[in-house]
Order: sequence, then structure tokens, then C-alpha cells
Amino acid sequence: MTKPAPAVASPAVREKDWVNIFFLSMTPIVGIFGTLAYVLARGVVWWEPALLLVSFAVVGIAITAGYHRCFSHKAYTAHPAVQAVYLFFGSWALQNSALHWSSDHRDHHRFVDREQDPYNIQRGFLWAHILWIFYKQPKDRTFDNAKDLLANRLVMLQHKVAGPLGVITGLGIPTLIGAAFGRPLGGLLWGGFLRIVIIHHTTFFVNSLAHIWGTRPFTEENSARDNWALALVTHGEGYHNFHHKFPSDFRNGIRWYQWDPGKWFIGALRGVGLARDLRVTPEALILRSRLQTAIGKSEARLEGAPATVRERATAQLEAARASLDGAMVRWNEMQSRRRELTVRRRELSAQRRADARHRRREELETLRGRMREARQAWRDQMAEAQFAFRVALRELKSVKAPGLLS
Ligand SMILES: [Zn+2]
Ligand SMILES: [Zn+2]
Repeated sequence: MTKPAPAVASPAVREKDWVNIFFLSMTPIVGIFGTLAYVLARGVVWWEPALLLVSFAVVGIAITAGYHRCFSHKAYTAHPAVQAVYLFFGSWALQNSALHWSSDHRDHHRFVDREQDPYNIQRGFLWAHILWIFYKQPKDRTFDNAKDLLANRLVMLQHKVAGPLGVITGLGIPTLIGAAFGRPLGGLLWGGFLRIVIIHHTTFFVNSLAHIWGTRPFTEENSARDNWALALVTHGEGYHNFHHKFPSDFRNGIRWYQWDPGKWFIGALRGVGLARDLRVTPEALILRSRLQTAIGKSEARLEGAPATVRERATAQLEAARASLDGAMVRWNEMQSRRRELTVRRRELSAQRRADARHRRREELETLRGRMREARQAWRDQMAEAQFAFRVALRELKSVKAPGLLS
């Protein structure tokens, strides 16, 4: 494990941001105690918690699938209409503009656990959770780590108006919905203030708790953790160890059963043609990182084990590595066959001569056949690699700690 660089210049060197301090202290008081007082005085009507849940889901998805996976990591390309929706509801989260958020987040990934990481967990839970927001950013900030976003007109428009847009519409629309039911204050508190507090702190947990609490199956090179409980309240962002290892993957929870509404939403967008170029990490690469991490964790036990045990484990590790490398080769072959098919299909569809139709169909069928063959070869190799991986992992786990040897 690489040791994080020691912390950092004192926060005192940066000017305090009194607007943020006031806002982040006031919203929990109004959101929690205000709503509680309202409930005690006027009771609860069914649509009030429903409004909270729906607005939490919509704004949460705008942050997770929008600010995070689309704008910060370019894990897929969203249709401009979808981007506009992300930017509108993302402003309701009151976590700054998408440009600002993404630029901070790219620094977080690049410098994780080091001084330049804006929410560096090495400075403690509270710093990573909220204190970092209490200090002003440099005025001459250039956003040079987000040139793609500087060139995105929608993002730049939102950057100019994100604050007022989020306050006026994020509080105004729930109030209007409440007014339609005869309880404007109920709408404002449940769908406005309480929702803001919950979105704030669940998002902040990804920067604080997800760097402290959980497991590290994919990498131990940084503090990020996988934590299913956190995934439940963050639209899937709790699988943070995987995310730090493979940040451009559109998924955070890679197994079908892992709670990740972000990946399901993006998958649904693709289904209706509103998202494309979803980036997926090859399975062999994921298993390779798990194997490497397991080896790191077993190092001391392996060193203390008898020579025969060590040799057998090493041989199985080598076999698993070679098999996974083979699967990577097959994966790359399959990708190039897929590209070949896509390019040729586009070229042929541009030739509209009727007499060539038959030849066109034949050629495409041949290319499809080659693509199917490559996919089958990858699947076969992957099945073998998964078996070798499981054997090697079991072997590693069975190596006893030196102190336990009789
Ligand atoms: Zn992180
Ligand atoms: Zn990220």
C-alpha cells in the first residue's frame, strides 16, 4: 500500500466562506427541526413524505448519473436533453455548479489522500465530510482539469446560474406543489429543506464514510472502501473502492444484485437511445485487480508459509494471471471485430445502389459471424480464467499465518 502524503497546509490559510457556513448550518436546523415542529403542529399528509422520496430520487440521480458519472468521469455520453435535466435538478442539490463539482472531483481522484485532494480523508472525517466546504476556493481558479466541460454550452450556462436556480426552483417548486394540496409550508419543508439536508449529507458520506468504512477488494493503494449499506442511500455510490480503481466505468456496483440505481438508470437511458458509449471495464481486468489485492493482503502469510505451500500457491497464482491475460487478449480481439463490423456497416449503408444489396448482406453476415466467433472465444477463455482465479484465491486464503503453524 502506498502511504498517503502527510497533511497539508492549515485550513486557516484559506479564507472562511461564511455563506456556505451559514447555509450548511441553517439547512439542518430548518430541515430537521422545522419539519418536526410542523409535523407536531399540523400532522403529516401522505404526499409530503412521497414528495421527499421522489425529489430525493430525482436530485440524487442528477448528482450520481449526471454530475458524477456523466460530467466528472465521462463514463458515457448522454443526450443533450438528458444533460439539461441533470443540470437543472443537479442545481437543486445545492452542491455548486456541475463544472465546479466535477473539477473538484477530478482533483479528488487524481490526488486522492494527498494535499491537493479537496476532501482529503487524511485530514479527518469532518474535513472530508463538510469542513472543506467552509473555506473559499481560490478566486483565480481556471478549471483547467475540465476543459471538456468549459466547451459544453449547457454546463457553462448552468455554471452561471446554478446557485439562484437551485434555491429559487428547488424551494419554489415544492412550495407550489404543497400549495396545490393546501399546505405550501409542508411542501417547502419536506420537498425543500429536509430533502436538501438528506441529499447533502448522503453525498458527503461518499467523501467521508466511503473512505473509512468498508472493504478494499480492488485496490489498497488508496483509502476508498466498498460499502453496500452506503450504496443504499447514495444511489449506488457506496462501491467506492471499485470506483476509485475504475473511475470511468459507468457502474459502481458491478454485480447484478448490487444496489446501484445510477447504473440501472444509465442502462435504461441507453435502452431508449438517450445514452451511448457506456464504458465497461473488462471482467478480466477486474479479476486481475482483485487477485493483485488478495496477493498484497496475503504477503506476510505467504512469506511465513512452508516452501511447498508457497510454491503451490505461486504456481496457481501464475496460472490464474496467465489465464486472465489470455482473456484480455480475447476481449481486445472481440472489441476490434465489433469496431470492424460497425465501421463497415456504416460504410455500406452509405452505398445505396440496389444491385449491391445482396453482396452487402453477405459481407455483413460474414463480419457478424467473425464477431460471434470472437465473442465465443472470449467467453470460453473467461470461464477458464474465472475458474483459475477462484482456485488461486482459495489457495491464498488457505495459507495460514506463520504464528498459527504447528
Ligand atoms: Zn473518493
Ligand atoms: Zn468519482
